[in-house]
Amino acid sequence: MKQVGVIGGGLGGLASACVLAARGYEVIVFERNEWFGGKAAVIQSDGFRFDMGPTILTLPGVLQRIFSEVGLPVGSVLDLVRLDPQWRSFFEDGSTLDLMADTDAMALKLAAFTRGADTSEGYRRFMRLSERLHRISDDYFFWRPVGALRDMFDARGAFQLSILRDVLAMRPGRSVAGTVRGHIPDPRVAQMVDHFTQYVGSAPDMSPAVLCSIGHMQTGEGVWYPMGGTRAVPLALTKLAESLGVEFRCNSRVERILTSRGAVDGVRLEGGETVKFDAVVSNSDSVRTHRELLGGSPARAFERRRRYEPACSGVVLYLGLKHRYDHLLHHNFVFSRDPEEEFHAIYSKGEPAPDPTCYVCAPSGTESAVAPPGGEALYVLVHTPYLRPSHDWSRMLPEYRRIILEKLKRTAGMEDIESRIVFEQALTPADIDRRYHVLNGAIYGLVSHGRFLGAFKPGNRSPDVRGLYLAGGAAHPGPGMPMVLMSGWIAADALDQDARRWRSRGAPVRLEHGIAP
Ligand SMILES: Cc1cc2nc3c(=O)[nH]c(=O)nc-3n(C[C@H](O)[C@H](O)[C@H](O)COP(=O)(O)OP(=O)(O)OC[C@H]3O[C@@H](n4cnc5c(N)ncnc54)[C@H](O)[C@@H]3O)c2cc1C
Repeated sequence: MKQVGVIGGGLGGLASACVLAARGYEVIVFERNEWFGGKAAVIQSDGFRFDMGPTILTLPGVLQRIFSEVGLPVGSVLDLVRLDPQWRSFFEDGSTLDLMADTDAMALKLAAFTRGADTSEGYRRFMRLSERLHRISDDYFFWRPVGALRDMFDARGAFQLSILRDVLAMRPGRSVAGTVRGHIPDPRVAQMVDHFTQYVGSAPDMSPAVLCSIGHMQTGEGVWYPMGGTRAVPLALTKLAESLGVEFRCNSRVERILTSRGAVDGVRLEGGETVKFDAVVSNSDSVRTHRELLGGSPARAFERRRRYEPACSGVVLYLGLKHRYDHLLHHNFVFSRDPEEEFHAIYSKGEPAPDPTCYVCAPSGTESAVAPPGGEALYVLVHTPYLRPSHDWSRMLPEYRRIILEKLKRTAGMEDIESRIVFEQALTPADIDRRYHVLNGAIYGLVSHGRFLGAFKPGNRSPDVRGLYLAGGAAHPGPGMPMVLMSGWIAADALDQDARRWRSRGAPVRLEHGIAP
């Protein structure tokens, strides 16, 4: 197995390409858009620069592991700046609270914020649980091609008492929201901590308690900003891949994964060109990969395995301001008046929340080059339901924009925001669907709902087609920059391990463009 095709040049596909090329494979990346990086795209206009998609970078250790494949320290390719406080929270009652990385410092802050010890102590206990869940995720869930519960423990041999303890610590059957509230009595602080599940576009009361691990993943390794914006990440990966000989083909849509006798044979591009491969990594949404690029019995087997529901979508306003707001941090959350009402609208009713939480990114304090002097490249993200047939965002956007701006004026002290706007662009769920070819405009792949098995996503090694591997937000271990980068690494590593196994068993290994020796 030597020639590998990668379908999609999102962060997951780029990570796979780097790892495979570093391990000696010949790799071609096909991307239907004219840029690489997928959702990690950029808008540059009128002196402003906006990261279009991800803005919060956590777990830089994942990036380090990818660059380690070629012995490079991540600091030599990316200028990463640590942000602490990590974000500022604005609540409907007018109060504000900064999230600090250090648990002791945060607990002190919470004692003053809530005028009592309960929430402060509860936060400490919650963070201890979060740390344990993070460690369990590291031990059983991360860096391996998990597709189901049994994949977490198989490789470990006999079932030990310590494993049973870890399984129970994962609180099977309990939700994130229930666990958070069991520790943190103050409703504002609970709302802030609940919000970690928004990294996976899922409702806290429907997501499994193990996702409380996200809190420690963020506070433990910190929140980072790559100078040049998050766009610097795909640029660094593309540069590394190119230096390793990866061929990049943009404006190249794969319309079919070709198979023969249950194994990958190559891909067919729009326009009819076919390219033979020994293996394929699909960074296209895993559900669409099966429905659109495979079809037939592999797609039927995939659909039988579970029900696939998209995670949430979102609306982003990119607002070029002539004057920045000095009371904003780099990352800010302007919280809804009622999280239950908000999550019920988005995740149960499938309607935009009437009073949404707005995530506001104001990066000019960290990197002044994002805007003309004194200005701001303000990014406002509001989570919305994934696209339903009744949603016509060309009609819905003007009213929702008004609701978002009203929220910022009322809750985040930005009363004069309209008079400061000199540039504006928007991204709607319909745009996300069209630009990134995802399931129903989902930002974060598949939803993590289900109190027992909600964290599981389709595994990275296809059980249905030999030589097919999955990487990206709709594959294990899930969405978000660090997780999709890890999924790209896992897909590449699984492919590499399979190739070594087949070679050592003397199985026919196709070496040159599908010709068996
Ligand atoms: C608005 C927004 C805000 C976000 N904020 C954050 C954040 O702050 N922090 C964070 O960690 N994450 C965030 N995310 C999530 C994060 O961006 C994604 O999880 C991650 O970038 C997805 O990477 P991916 O590998 O799944 O690929 P994608 O970015 O989905 O890219 C897949 C690529 O495959 C291509 N493709 C699909 N089908 C084909 C085909 N048939 N042929 C050729 N090419 C194909 C697509 O064109 C696309 O370029 C955000 C996302 C969005 C949209």
